Amino acid sequence: MASRYLEPEIERRSRAAMTRWQAVRLREQVRHAAAHSPFYRRKFKAAKMKPAQIRTLDDLRRLPFTTKDELKENQANRPPWGDVLAVPLADVMRVHLTSATTGRPLAFLDTREDWHGFYHSYARSLYAYGVRQKDMVMAAFSYGPWIGYWSGFYAAQDLGCLVFPVGGLSTDQRIDALLNYPITVLGCTPSYALFLAEAATKKGVDLAKDTRIRITWHTGEPGASIPATRAKIEAAFGAKAYDLPGLTEIAAWGFECDARSGLTHVHEDYCYPEVLDEQGRPVAPGERGELVFTSLYRKAMPLIRYRTRDVVQVADRKCPCGRTLVSFEGGVLGRLDDMKKVRGIIVYPRRIEELVRPHAAVDEFQIVFRRHEGLDEILVRIDPSPSLSLAEREGLRTQLGDRLRTGLGLRAAVEITESGTLPRWDHKARRVVDERTEVPF
Ligand SMILES: [Zn+2]
Repeated sequence: MASRYLEPEIERRSRAAMTRWQAVRLREQVRHAAAHSPFYRRKFKAAKMKPAQIRTLDDLRRLPFTTKDELKENQANRPPWGDVLAVPLADVMRVHLTSATTGRPLAFLDTREDWHGFYHSYARSLYAYGVRQKDMVMAAFSYGPWIGYWSGFYAAQDLGCLVFPVGGLSTDQRIDALLNYPITVLGCTPSYALFLAEAATKKGVDLAKDTRIRITWHTGEPGASIPATRAKIEAAFGAKAYDLPGLTEIAAWGFECDARSGLTHVHEDYCYPEVLDEQGRPVAPGERGELVFTSLYRKAMPLIRYRTRDVVQVADRKCPCGRTLVSFEGGVLGRLDDMKKVRGIIVYPRRIEELVRPHAAVDEFQIVFRRHEGLDEILVRIDPSPSLSLAEREGLRTQLGDRLRTGLGLRAAVEITESGTLPRWDHKARRVVDERTEVPF
């Protein structure tokens, strides 16, 4: 039987061997950053730390965090690249921009070896989904400075797949390509997968029957790790859908495997994960915390203790696939930046998606946080499938209202809009609107 691992010697490495390996890489990265990155030289000096004091993974906790705001400020003050950069600019061969929702995006630079690390670990994820050299792959991300398209394309190429470049094509042209070429694997954001499926249905195309897609993978948003969203995508394409969490600044750091156990494995030979509570202490297995990454391979911008703002839960069980890599339960469970407080209760938009998506009659939705007569409230707008009768619409409203109240622990208003009125998203969705002028925390 062919192996289910691209690199079994890494994916099944013993804990002791992985720790030794990580510690060697960590010492090298810290030395490199201190010697060549003015940004990190200042940070280490301010923390009164010398690279030689960092010997083990535990020592890492003595170093300060790095935040995205710091990186942005650094680039704003020292345009255009800032001075995190720890190699001569001539050694840099790629630039990508993070997809900023506010302010200027962060520019991230890579050397040839950095870039290889990014797409090679990504290729390992694709292999874990079951993608093989014989596959023909479509990476339906936008062609531009966002890393999504490039990393997906290079990763598939790294496995030797035939890659169909569709970055600049319209949705109609992509549907046409799926019908006319033997494309077996599709990568896109989860929002775009649903957008593409809806567009195909309108044209009378059944993607599940009329195409050869067998695997889809999704990144840019956590949708494919939400069971109901994944089920919707799988039904539309007649394929298995996989989640690929990643960060431009760190790596395409995680993947679900073909055991489909609900666990997300981490490429911890490329990036060392810490999961920390609010006081910055490591959480126990089974607990949730903020994911903090230290890059173990990138030399151009070697981030140390980078706060991702992503909330994850450290797994306290093993995956049946046999991988020994650190794993999280169910991908990214929420973003600290997306966290909302409503009448004292913490609400993550992802949780609302988990509650709303299982209903087949929900085509699209929007979450509005607003203040009504001095009280915070949540309004969930539902764009229903066009076939619903008036009575069914009312039934859906009541049913979702009950489900949200039970699932969130507070009442949410539900409004059923006219079918087709809510915005659709062909890249990353922005389904959350916060109308409150001040945030009460
Ligand atoms: Zn697994």
